[in-house]
Amino acid sequence: MAQFPPPIRNPEVKFTKLFINNEFVDSVSGKTFPTINPTNGQKICDVSEGDKADIDKAVESAKAAFKLGSPWRRMDASKRGALLYKVAQLMERDAQYLGSLETLDNGKPYMNAFGEMMFSANMLKYYAGSADKVGGKTIPVDGDYMCYTRHEPVGICGAVIPWNYPVCMFALKLAPALACGNVIIFKPAEQTPLTALYMAALCKEAGIPAGVVNVVNGYGPTAGAAITAHPEVDKIAFTGSTEVGQIILQASGATNIKRTTLELGGKSPNVVMDDADSLYYVYNNKCAG
Ligand code: NDP
Repeated sequence: MAQFPPPIRNPEVKFTKLFINNEFVDSVSGKTFPTINPTNGQKICDVSEGDKADIDKAVESAKAAFKLGSPWRRMDASKRGALLYKVAQLMERDAQYLGSLETLDNGKPYMNAFGEMMFSANMLKYYAGSADKVGGKTIPVDGDYMCYTRHEPVGICGAVIPWNYPVCMFALKLAPALACGNVIIFKPAEQTPLTALYMAALCKEAGIPAGVVNVVNGYGPTAGAAITAHPEVDKIAFTGSTEVGQIILQASGATNIKRTTLELGGKSPNVVMDDADSLYYVYNNKCAG
């Protein structure tokens, strides 16, 4: 079995607000919602609750970051890759904390949560290496013509993510978007906002410019729907249920034609017995430390 550090039993919650333009801010409405420890039903803390007004703010921030001539648009692709790699290194530095926070907010065993951090960091590294390898083609055509293609970033990406792999889903949507020069707005699942907020802080620490990554916590039918309906969001990436996927597909075509990627459905039911203990492996000394 791989060695990994023991969990932090009561990890401090460092961020509970919305992350817009590289700052943690209250929601426009001032509303909050509780996030619950699913292993005991206790409230962990209250988190700012974003809705349409906050999504509008996040879109303005993303738009400014994506404007022609902005630091992000002028950045070399290799530098974008280096920033993603830096985020991966920061995740590795904080994997014990991030894994513990994930276990607290999501309820999955710490061993699984820690593993999620490591493979998410690896995913970021993979895409970091690809950032400067996105090329077009030269296409032979008849006559006195030169024909070539370029790959351009799409623009503002909206990412609506689920509760089952909160950090993995964050990384999986962040990495290709940023490698290709896009900007992104996340709506984490209402059940698991905490690690997404910490990931946002790591993006800032890595040096990703303001507005490139934004996180708006909130509920699906309000914050989530505001992203999918926003006329200035260019692309939606969604993971979750088939039912919500159908709603999102419709909304994505309502005010503009968004490119939409849907990862839908579920097939892994679990039976959780009364004596289940998310720290089982720790109690049984099956980890380092
Ligand atoms: P949902 O599809 O309801 O939630 C996924 C995300 O979509 C959440 O962030 C949710 O917000 C958001 N959302 C909900 N309604 C809307 C809307 N109208 N517009 C925009 N965004 C919206 O999944 P559930 O969490 O309810 O899980 C239900 C089932 O879906 C699971 O049992 C499983 O079968 C499947 N599933 C599959 C996943 C996968 O990895 N393929 C992941 C998660 C779920 P909020 O959290 O506020 O509701």
